[in-house]
Amino acid sequence: MKNIAGKTYSLFGDDATSNDYFETVRKLTDFHFEKFFYKEESLLELIRLTEKKSKIKNRQQKNADIIAVIRENLKQLLAPYTGGVKAHLKGLSLFQRFDATLRTKEHQYHLFMIEIELVNRINRDDFLQAEFKMALFPHCLSDFRPRCLSEAGDIEHLCQGCTKDCHINLGGKLLRKYGIESYISATMDQRKLFKGLKIQHPSLGVLGIACIPELARGLRLCQSLGIPAIGIPLDANRCARWMGRAQETSFNLRELEKLIK
Ligand code: SF4
Repeated sequence: MKNIAGKTYSLFGDDATSNDYFETVRKLTDFHFEKFFYKEESLLELIRLTEKKSKIKNRQQKNADIIAVIRENLKQLLAPYTGGVKAHLKGLSLFQRFDATLRTKEHQYHLFMIEIELVNRINRDDFLQAEFKMALFPHCLSDFRPRCLSEAGDIEHLCQGCTKDCHINLGGKLLRKYGIESYISATMDQRKLFKGLKIQHPSLGVLGIACIPELARGLRLCQSLGIPAIGIPLDANRCARWMGRAQETSFNLRELEKLIK
C-alpha cells in the first residue's frame, strides 16, 4: 500500500494505509447505534433520506435534529478523507454538473461512507450464503496498465493474471479462496446486467469495488433488484472520469478479507 491522493477523496488521510479509515467508520456507526438506539435498517433509511434531501420537513423534526447531529459528527471525523471535494466542485464545467457522481457534495461522501458500512453489516450473511457469488472490479484498477490482457468472459471481462502485483489479480486470488468469481466491469447498463444475472442465478450475491459514490449507488441498485450486495470502496478516486487520465489506484485487501471470511 502507498498513500495516494484522489480527485475528491483518499481513504489514506495522512496515514500510510487506509486501515484507520475503516476503523473510524466502524466506530462512527457503532456510536450512532448506541446514541440513537436505531436498528441497522432504520439508521440506513435515515442516512439515505439525509443524503437525498438536504432539508427535512417539519413533521420529521425529530429526525431532522438527529440528522443534524449525525452530519456534524461525520464532518468532524471524516473530513480528513475528503479534502479534495470543494476544489473539485468549483472546477466542474456546466456539462459535468449534470453528472450526479461528479457533483457529489462533501456531506454526501460522509453519508455514503456510513451507508456502505451499514449495507455490509446488513447484507454480509445473505451474500455469503448465496449459491453464486461474484465480485466486480472497476477497470480503473488495471487500465492505467497499457498491456492489461483481460478478455471478455461469460459475464464480464476476466483477468488473465498477467502481472503479479496488479490489484485485480491480487483481489481475484483472494476471492477465489472464498468461492467468489471475479470479473472486471465493462457493461454500462448495470441494471440490465444484474437483472439478467438474477434470472440465471436466482441465488446471487454481488461484491462491488468502486469509488465511494458509485459503490453506494451500486449497492442501492442491487437492493432494488433483491440482490444481497456488499462492497469495498477504492482507496482513492483516480480514474479518467475524475482525473482526466487514468492513474493507479488501490483498495484495502485486508478489509476485503475481513468482509468475506
Ligand atoms: S493482472 Fe489481470 S487485470 Fe491486471 S493487468 Fe493483467 S490481465 Fe489486466
